[in-house]
Amino acid sequence: MKILVVNCGSSSLKYQLFDMTNEDVLAKGLVERIGLNGALLTHQPAEKEKHVITTDIPNHSVAIRLVLEALTNASHGVIKSMDEIVAVGHRGVHGGEAFSDSVIITPEVIKAIEACSEMAPLHNPPNILGINACAAIMPKTPQAVVFDTAFHQTVPKYAFMYGLPYEAYEKHGIRRYGFHGTSHKYVSQRAAALLGKKPNEVKIITCHLGNGSSIAAVQNGKCVDTSMGFTPLEGLMMGTRCGDIDPAILPYLMKKENMSPDDIDQYINKKSGVLGISGVSSDFRDIEKAAEAGNERAQLALDMFAYKVRKYVGSYAAAMNGVDAIVFTAGLGENSTSMRADITAGLEYLGTKLDPERNNVRGQEREISVPGSRVKLFIIPTNEELVIARDTKDLCNA
Ligand code: ADP
Repeated sequence: MKILVVNCGSSSLKYQLFDMTNEDVLAKGLVERIGLNGALLTHQPAEKEKHVITTDIPNHSVAIRLVLEALTNASHGVIKSMDEIVAVGHRGVHGGEAFSDSVIITPEVIKAIEACSEMAPLHNPPNILGINACAAIMPKTPQAVVFDTAFHQTVPKYAFMYGLPYEAYEKHGIRRYGFHGTSHKYVSQRAAALLGKKPNEVKIITCHLGNGSSIAAVQNGKCVDTSMGFTPLEGLMMGTRCGDIDPAILPYLMKKENMSPDDIDQYINKKSGVLGISGVSSDFRDIEKAAEAGNERAQLALDMFAYKVRKYVGSYAAAMNGVDAIVFTAGLGENSTSMRADITAGLEYLGTKLDPERNNVRGQEREISVPGSRVKLFIIPTNEELVIARDTKDLCNA
């Protein structure tokens, strides 16, 4: 059973073709600069040379067509015909309160995703473009969508509401939704497996630390709290996003600096975070290098980031009345030995301690706490595409 997983951004499209017999990836790739000059497709078959195509890619339909051509091509393809693709699974970003699980796409589902677009103007419209492009080219192939927000729909109301007038929730849907849900779901389930337990027997704190970062508290297999909120801005300080701040800073700055709502939005989303603090870069590799060379603001950015993660870990242990494992995932969480060391310094009170030798690794699934720790520390590389493929398979089989 072959399943194509598609992740559409406004000008990009990532894909992976899975053979679900063994969950093998047959090919994966990326279309970049859709609708812009210099568009290209990079196609990587599992057992053949990488193939790059540079051509005009004016829209997502052309992008999907190119992907299907690459997958079925006689020399660099991996299947004979498009008919071998049994289903397509799409990454959906914002499913609002309408979706607490993955679903097969119907016209009603598309309408519901459109209704959530106002809350995710950068993400939901390209998701819909991708879905429509696939539907036009493969009208008989079932399509499913797996939402970033769905795993967080189990967060209880007292944890997802903000202390604003109740009508803000009723009228405008203002509440915590959370993001990266597919990743938190995958790594929390893997952590349970590594503990030799079922997901409904354990309490896990999952730290998805990348360019965008979020933390989740997963109790008995269900998410009970998460750091991102109404938008992916809340919570940790990120590459360019400020994370939690006193909300009164916004009107204050707008008045002082004569900023419009769009200006302040740019300021807190694109100019803040570790970029804004360090003045060096939004990329943690650059910041780590600068800090090593003695740049104090770069060091401050790293210290602030680690401190914030540690505070969230403590608060989520409190939220769940304990924790069995803490997981690090995504670009920074999987790769930065020093950031994991900084975050976990001083977690002994929880019953865990980092093992520096085990921690000296990149991107490998493994325990990194000292042997015998009551609370385990794990690195678990995330795999959102595999969750999408699995959910799509399950929906098709049902
Ligand atoms: P996203 O999917 O949110 O764009 P990723 O999960 O790919 O982001 O993570 C990107 C971040 O991970 C970047 O800030 C990058 O610096 C960081 N990163 C990747 N590899 C390393 C590494 N070896 N050391 C430190 N940081 C790393």
